[in-house]
Amino acid sequence: MKIILKRGKDESLRRFHPWIFSGAIHRIEGEQEEGALARVFTADGEYIATGHWQIGSIAVRVLTFRDEPIDTAFWASRLQEAWQMRKAIGVAGREDNSTYRLVHGEGDNLPGLVIDVYGRTAVMQAHSVGIHCSRMEIAEALKQVMAAAIESIYYKSETTLPFKADLGQENGFLLGGSADDVAVENGLKFHIDWLRGQKTGFFVDQRDNRSLLEQYSRGRDVLNMFCYTGGFSVYAMRGGARTVHSVDSSAQAVDLVNANVELNFPGDARHRAYAEDAFRFLQLMTDGAYDLIILDPPAFAKHKDALRNALKGYTRLNLRAFEKIRPGGILFTFSCSQAVNKDQFRMAVFTAAAQSGRRVRILHQLHQPADHPINIYHPEGEYLKGLVLYVE
Ligand code: SAH
Repeated sequence: MKIILKRGKDESLRRFHPWIFSGAIHRIEGEQEEGALARVFTADGEYIATGHWQIGSIAVRVLTFRDEPIDTAFWASRLQEAWQMRKAIGVAGREDNSTYRLVHGEGDNLPGLVIDVYGRTAVMQAHSVGIHCSRMEIAEALKQVMAAAIESIYYKSETTLPFKADLGQENGFLLGGSADDVAVENGLKFHIDWLRGQKTGFFVDQRDNRSLLEQYSRGRDVLNMFCYTGGFSVYAMRGGARTVHSVDSSAQAVDLVNANVELNFPGDARHRAYAEDAFRFLQLMTDGAYDLIILDPPAFAKHKDALRNALKGYTRLNLRAFEKIRPGGILFTFSCSQAVNKDQFRMAVFTAAAQSGRRVRILHQLHQPADHPINIYHPEGEYLKGLVLYVE
């Protein structure tokens, strides 16, 4: 199909922004099938981009600004680039690390596509109808590019695609079918539950922040709130924490964290996990019980209209931690809401600090790691932010 833009609506594309909003479109020619490839032209008939078309406010996700076919060879060359980059930044091709994000959507010039690698399994996730329609070609390309490194490709898009598109998508293996679910992150082992787990099964994006936490853990009593698979807990234990308590409202997460602690530190009595609501746990816990607290909640704002409530939520949560943390304690606090920017998050945490009356200093400002790159022309790709705070 062919899309002709309104006059002047090609400007952001000339600056390589990868989205075309529906309001920028003057005319569509040819059959309009969701997920189909669209060649896009300016009002003067000049070719400008090719991308996946979808019903919604983001009408086209641009795959290329060159007039080239989108086929297995195209996907293979983009995947090759992505893999090269992961090797160059030192997350792939290492003995002690087999857990990394291979493709981060717009950040890798592949809008709508996420691929995480866990050992010899790649977990692929589609966030657009077009990527869903191209999944077999992408899997074929991935097999070609990473034949030596990957045995299985698991497709996990049941919850990430617009349900209105009625694609009948199912999760399942597109290649292989490995039952080996252990991957290594910085020398620590993790069971990855790509079948039932959240997202692609693990939060790869906290890898660097977990390493930093490890450095602060020696001799401390650690509370890992919203622990999920227990990434932070296991690093804290390696870092020499005195005790580590992990909390998540999901019983399944508590089983996962226990399994992962056992995998790395069998029989270690320093760790305990609790299935409990975070706000309740923080309210009931003894003052000063912990001197290192991690708050890594799920996204409080999935959309812009939820922003005000989300900010209040961050303030309320952080206030509880400020009220209870031991003097001299360290707080690692995060937001993964894309709709909340780093200044807004910092303001929410500032408000909590002020309300608690504690003296607080910022030690580090954290963000997503290098295998979650931000396309400089697509600042919307920045989502993870965190603060490490020293609380007197
Ligand atoms: N820190 C984790 C990722 C956290 S994801 C990591 O490094 O991998 C967010 C987690 O918060 C999920 O596991 C979810 O089950 C849990 N959660 C959501 N609401 C909660 C609540 N009110 N109290 C406690 N846990 C909650």
